[in-house]
Order: sequence, then C-alpha cells, then structure tokens
Amino acid sequence: MNINQEFRNARLVQAVVDKIRQTATRPWVIMEICGGQTHAFMQTGLDQLLPASIELVHGPGCPVCVTSLELIDKALAIAMRPDVIFTSFGDMLRVPGSRDDLFSIRARGGDIRVVYSPLDSVRIARENPEKQVVFFAIGFETTAPANAAALLQAKALGLKNYSQLVSIVRVPPAMHAILGSPGNRVQGFLAAGHVCSVMGTREYPPIAARYHVPIVVTGFEPLDLAQGLLMCVQQLEAGLAEVQNAYTRVVQEEGNPAALKMLARVYREVDRNWRGIGTIPLSGWGLTPEFAGFDAENRFDLKEIQTRESEICIAGQILRGLKKPHQCPAFGNPCSPENPLGAPMVSSEGACAAHYRYGREIEKK
Ligand code: SF4
Repeated sequence: MNINQEFRNARLVQAVVDKIRQTATRPWVIMEICGGQTHAFMQTGLDQLLPASIELVHGPGCPVCVTSLELIDKALAIAMRPDVIFTSFGDMLRVPGSRDDLFSIRARGGDIRVVYSPLDSVRIARENPEKQVVFFAIGFETTAPANAAALLQAKALGLKNYSQLVSIVRVPPAMHAILGSPGNRVQGFLAAGHVCSVMGTREYPPIAARYHVPIVVTGFEPLDLAQGLLMCVQQLEAGLAEVQNAYTRVVQEEGNPAALKMLARVYREVDRNWRGIGTIPLSGWGLTPEFAGFDAENRFDLKEIQTRESEICIAGQILRGLKKPHQCPAFGNPCSPENPLGAPMVSSEGACAAHYRYGREIEKK
C-alpha cells in the first residue's frame, strides 16, 4: 500500500469532500476526539475544504492537555529531589504546573531526561542503581501498552529503584462526560483509530445508543478523515446513531488481544481528574496490587501539594467542545507556544497549539 498515492491523494479527498457537501442539508457539530486528528485536519487544510455547515470541535484526546494539575505538581516535587532521575516524554517539560514547569526545574539542576520510549526509563534505572528513576506515565489507551511493558520488564529485572507516576486516561468515559454535560453541542464523533486498534470498538455501541450519536472510528490520513466525516454526516442526515469503522485496515472489533491481556494484568479502573474538566468516574487506569510497588505516588511523600490553576485559561471549555481557541482572551497574546499559559498550547496534540501553528482564526482576534 502506498499511503501517499491512496490516502493523501488530493483528488480522492476532494471527491469525498464533495459528497459531504452534497449530503449535508443542515448544520452539524462533529467532534474529533483525538488531538492527532485535530492537527491532521489543520496540517492538511482539510478543515478549510469542508462546507460551512460542518463544524468541527476539538475533543480532549490530548494526554498532555488533560493530565491533572495536581499530578504535574507531584511530578515537579519528585523531579526536584536530588536522589531522583525523572524521565518523561518531551512534551511534558513545558506544561505549566501551579508555579513551575519541568524545564525550569531542570534549569535549576534537576536531573530530568527526555525519553522516547518507557523502556528507555527502565534502562536508565539499570544504569543508575544509586538513584530512584521515575517515569511520567501519561497517556490514553494507546500509550498504555508500552508503559505496561516497561513495568513488566522492571518487575522481571527485580528493579527496586524504578517507579512510574501514572496518569492513564480513557476515551469512552470522557465521551460520556461530554455528551452528558448540560451545554453539550456534539452531535457526532470521530473516534480515535489508534485507541481502537488497542481496545477495539465494543465499548462504543452503548454510548451511541444512550445519547443517540453516530460514532465513526477514523484514521489520521486526509482520506481517512474525510471518509470518517462523510460516514458520520450520512448517519446524522438519516437519523442513525451507530458505530461504524472507517479504519478497517488497522482496527478490529475485538482490538489487540495480546495488549488487552497485558493491560488487564497491570491496570485497574480508577476515577481520574482531567485538567480543565474535573473528575470523571472510572475514567483512568491505576496500577493493580501486583504493581503497586512501582507506583511513584506510594514511593514518595507528596501530601503537601497545593494546586493553583491559571485564572485566564479556558482549556476546560475547549476540551469539552464548548469553545474554540480563538475565543480565549489569551490566545496568541500573551499565550503562545513560546509562552504557554495552558497545556493545549504546549502539546503537539493540543488544540490551541494547532490553531496557532496553522494560523487558524488568529485574524478573528
Ligand atoms: S490559548 Fe492558552 S490560555 Fe487560552 S485556553 Fe489555550 S492554552 Fe489556555
């Protein structure tokens, strides 16, 4: 399969967009749940080809954006310790906590290292037995298997100096929270194809039925996105609320059985606080008793954390699809990727960063 020829083919994409235009007889509000899809829409300009009747709103599928302020402040407290090597994906280093970020802790001498895989943090722990090595294990269902694999490896190696600060969040409970909120505007969803490649699609039919919304599992190439939108609009116009899979080359209904088996061993469902949104019941994964010894929240004394959220940032409303980034009074000035006031301006998957980077709606300021 040649991705460039098939899924990035401008003529094929335009043909699907034309079908969307012919199909949509009235305005529809559709949420792409995943920040990767938000960026793909804007990077390719597909959002600007769509008819005005289709309004895309951006979902909370950006792990950096929704990691709670309390957990970021805990990360900062751990990273400050002289006996710790703190490891994280690069995006997290610039996310503002209540008073600091990981970059400024590193500038003050903290040993904070960017890793590209959770397994790198296990290697660092093996190489530095005199230090406590902590990995900031954020993410959705997509990244959870790699985090879990690192824990299994650390356990197999008998590492006593390794732990994870865990903030795994899950998509279906967030969809419940969005659809059940009083100001909800979302009428249809593009579900995240990579999440479904792990988890499958079986969690979605009850959501579609309960809230009467179509849910289309969608990939990340322009043709994937256009096709997912078309299927969603066709359902909306027909009054249907079904789960469809527009990413069959990757996603199976049953998901990835090997990954699911590993996840079931390492994680258990817990309530999770989403930054800007609040606590969503059973919306995250914490460690099972077998792995509780690797939980950084158990290993370090973190009881004195007092959080203080920015008074300007409206990230919570953006992450629920209630507002767009340009409606934030701080968008562009003073909040920018160089001076982020909130996580959605930092992350490579953040909606504010996407609007800023691709120049959407700056002119509306
Ligand atoms: S523009 Fe900045 S301050 Fe406004 S919502 Fe986005 S991240 Fe928060």
